[in-house]
Amino acid sequence: MVFNYILEKIAWNANERKLAKYQAIIDNINHFYEEYNNFSEEDIKNKSLEFKERVEKWESLDDILPESFALHKQACKSLVWTKYKVKWQEITWNMIPYDVQLLGGIILHEWNIAEMKTWEGKTLVATMSAYLNALTWKWVHLVTVNDYLAERDAETMKPLYEFLWVSVWFVSKNVSLEKRREQYNKDITYVENAELWFDYLRDNLAKSMDQRLLLFRDLNYAIVDEADSIMIDEARTPLIISQPSSQPTEKYVQYAQIVKALEACPLQTEKKKSILFDDWKKEPLECDYKIDSKAKTALLTSRWIQKLEKMLWVENLYRDLGYEEIHHIENAIKSKACYERDKDYLVHNGEVLIVDENTGRAMPWRRYSEGLHQAIEAKEQVQIQRESETVATITYQNFLKLYKKLSWMTGTASTEWEEFEKIYGVWVVVIPTNKEIIRTDKQDKVFFDQNIKFNHVVDTVKFYHKIWVPFLLWTSSVHTSELLSKYLQKAWLQHSVLNAKYHEMEAKIISNAGKNWSIIVATNMAWRWTDIKLEDWLFEKILANYAKWIKKELSNAKWLSLVIYSRFEFDKIMEWLKQEFSLTDDDIVSAEKQELIKDNFYIKIKFNNRKKTKSQAYCELIIKTSKEQEPELIEKNIHMGLYVLASEKHESRRIDNQLRWRSWRQWDPGVTQFYIALDDELMIKSWWLITKTLAWKLYPKEELEKMAIENKMITNSIERAQRQMEAMSFSIRKNLFEYDNVLNKQRQFIYSLRDKLLENKDMEEIIKQYIQDLVINTIKKYSYDEKELVNYLEEISWIDFSEEVKKYRSKDLKDYLILKFKEIYDDKKHQIGEDKMKEIQKYIMLETLDKNWMKHIDEMMYLRDKVSMYGYAQIDPLLQYKKEAFEKYQILMWGLKSQIVSELLKLDPEQFSVKTETLHIWWEEETINLIEKLKQAWNIAKWMEVKTPKKKWPKVIQKDDDFEIIEMADDNNNQEVDDIISKMLWK
Ligand code: ADP
Ligand code: MG
Repeated sequence: MVFNYILEKIAWNANERKLAKYQAIIDNINHFYEEYNNFSEEDIKNKSLEFKERVEKWESLDDILPESFALHKQACKSLVWTKYKVKWQEITWNMIPYDVQLLGGIILHEWNIAEMKTWEGKTLVATMSAYLNALTWKWVHLVTVNDYLAERDAETMKPLYEFLWVSVWFVSKNVSLEKRREQYNKDITYVENAELWFDYLRDNLAKSMDQRLLLFRDLNYAIVDEADSIMIDEARTPLIISQPSSQPTEKYVQYAQIVKALEACPLQTEKKKSILFDDWKKEPLECDYKIDSKAKTALLTSRWIQKLEKMLWVENLYRDLGYEEIHHIENAIKSKACYERDKDYLVHNGEVLIVDENTGRAMPWRRYSEGLHQAIEAKEQVQIQRESETVATITYQNFLKLYKKLSWMTGTASTEWEEFEKIYGVWVVVIPTNKEIIRTDKQDKVFFDQNIKFNHVVDTVKFYHKIWVPFLLWTSSVHTSELLSKYLQKAWLQHSVLNAKYHEMEAKIISNAGKNWSIIVATNMAWRWTDIKLEDWLFEKILANYAKWIKKELSNAKWLSLVIYSRFEFDKIMEWLKQEFSLTDDDIVSAEKQELIKDNFYIKIKFNNRKKTKSQAYCELIIKTSKEQEPELIEKNIHMGLYVLASEKHESRRIDNQLRWRSWRQWDPGVTQFYIALDDELMIKSWWLITKTLAWKLYPKEELEKMAIENKMITNSIERAQRQMEAMSFSIRKNLFEYDNVLNKQRQFIYSLRDKLLENKDMEEIIKQYIQDLVINTIKKYSYDEKELVNYLEEISWIDFSEEVKKYRSKDLKDYLILKFKEIYDDKKHQIGEDKMKEIQKYIMLETLDKNWMKHIDEMMYLRDKVSMYGYAQIDPLLQYKKEAFEKYQILMWGLKSQIVSELLKLDPEQFSVKTETLHIWWEEETINLIEKLKQAWNIAKWMEVKTPKKKWPKVIQKDDDFEIIEMADDNNNQEVDDIISKMLWK
């Protein structure tokens, strides 16, 4: 703990040191800004073009940063008062970057994480670095957490980018696939993170380059907004694209029916079984299958095999039915014989759920593999679910690392700085706020149980709601948000409930949270990213309401003790006080010094001189109507800004902090407070018992039921619980990251091979390498058995090599085969034609690659599940995973190579020889432009365009000095082509 504290301190000082060095750059920017003062729109555009040229020619982005940021600032200034529409609402441009925003821009450009609080204007900050990097004519992606923000931010910043002569647009769920390519081709694209990775994975499933939406250019630079949300909250699970497998389901039902009537052989005792084992064939004829309970399989007896052969009208079951059918039968019988309902699995709500052997709990997220689960579903007569296969997967971490350059911004990263540094190797730089923060973070209140807590929430809301203080009530789950809503209803407090489904609608409601008279109950998903605007004149209205209330209480002869938290609120109240009681400044001074007695009023202002943290009051103001009476004393806190009241703490302090920042914007006051019950989920999960006993020890029971405990010891123990949770989820993410790293290397290799294929690179060399590897491995594998070797060679090439195998032993055989296979390959290539061969090769390789790779990652997912069990056996699961992953990868590569080579060796050139007519045409460049003429002819002869839609003109396959050979499809009237061309040529 102490160590951590010191680390934090060091990080903090490093932060300050880092910031100091940027002042010079900011001064430089502002210097250029002065220089551009009189620039017109055209000047700005020209300057921007000049930057692009300079970057292209010689200058680095760092060199050009001050000028480009200054130009950006100038463009902002020119835009002020411009009206335009964002999400159908008219808005007016009013932003010119503050110095802290310039600083943020620089930090982003330098690959760091910029921590800037909510409402500090990160949207504008991102545009600076985006603009600068777009000067290179390479892509910039701005990654947002949701659709709404991608659209809103792109629309908000569009006028600015256009002013600076860079193109921008967004990709969100609403953007069709056809349009995406165009959007991604802009200089700057705002894109929702989920869409971005989905497009990435999808592009790696595309069969040709022109199907790609995103990967037709390199991934260059990404700025990730709300980095912690993407990299921390969502980074716990990998991204997966899966597809339902193509297996039909009827067969399962059919075989489940058939095996229903089977009879099991009586179980033998161990002893008998071992005797029987030797002549397994001599099985009892009066039963159908024997159970091998250890291996969890069942073996069919001959009686049943005969039965089945009759039933299915086949002569020999194993010979005539084929592997798949047999597999179905085996699964059906296994599910009947070895899997017991309520022991191995449960049937719940029409679903078959596996039971965890160790804990006895159902595991809804798991399924038996290879059709067994379906067979059990068929047996239980519930809906048979198609197996879904993972076809592509990647983690956020590894996806974002594909960008050449990455930077991040967020309001809350500093609690997680260690993680960012260790996993991503980036620094968190905390950027100071533009104005002094006047937010009040009040001490947590702890209640005995939720019921007491919610009643207190209602009481608090009731009072301040009358004064018109706007409320944001936070709950951690949909369930509690509804519960709280019920309490508010009972108290007749009108409110709206947001529990995260429709980002756009919710964002609208949230942005209205600052209107007076508003109470919003929200879960954490809903409120996080949108800004809350306080209503105009809100503080004046609130002050008037306080005034009314104070006067009313005083007229009832009450004493008031008002606790004020910030200078802002103090000034407002004093202004009113002076007016109301006709006080002079001197009067106030004496009220501060000792006390003020005027007419029959008594006023005393007590400053809190020892104010250490923001949660402590700024001052206490006591007002009484008369000195003599001893009436009731009313204590109230004075709050004016948005009141954020959280009815729970989150597992992570970072999320609590995000919430706190919601209550504040640049110069406005705000309040935040957490109400906690000892039976909240977090408390139950972690420190409940300890805190509860602590509470019991500290306070008597009757008091506990009424009171709010504000005790440092208890709140500290809650924070400790949060730290533990944070550490736990960090290790989950780290774990995921480490596992994905194993797969990542494999993925990178496969994807780069795919890229080569899609880019039509020449594969011949790779294939020849495959031939070599295949031969070497085959000989090694079958060295013990000549016959097997001959069989295998025949299987992959359809050629009988028995003679040769005999003739050339060991080493010579290898060389012979390599040579032979290469020869066959070359031969086919010549027969089929080089271009055509390339095409066929590409097709075969892509198909084989995809099929094997998908199978591989599906197995890898399964492997991840499997290795987690090794932990029980004291084996490091990650090590085991790495080991088995490597073995699987070897199998994958072996499969790939052998299948590709085999398919190519078996190619039948006849099948592919395209009937082409080769026309030898004299090429006389001076007299005629053949290609042009042919193009014209194409337009005349419509059918040709239809037949070869991609090719505008015939392909030149060989070019000599004086003539060219032109290849043409010949499935239409030859004569016609000839006629057209000869007419063209000789006229
Ligand atoms: P963040 O993403 O940091 O929470 P936003 O980018 O949503 O903040 O900006 C919050 C508000 O501040 C917006 O209404 C924006 O228009 C305003 N804003 C940002 N920068 C400036 C500026 N330089 N001058 C005036 N208003 C600004
Ligand atoms: Mg933002």
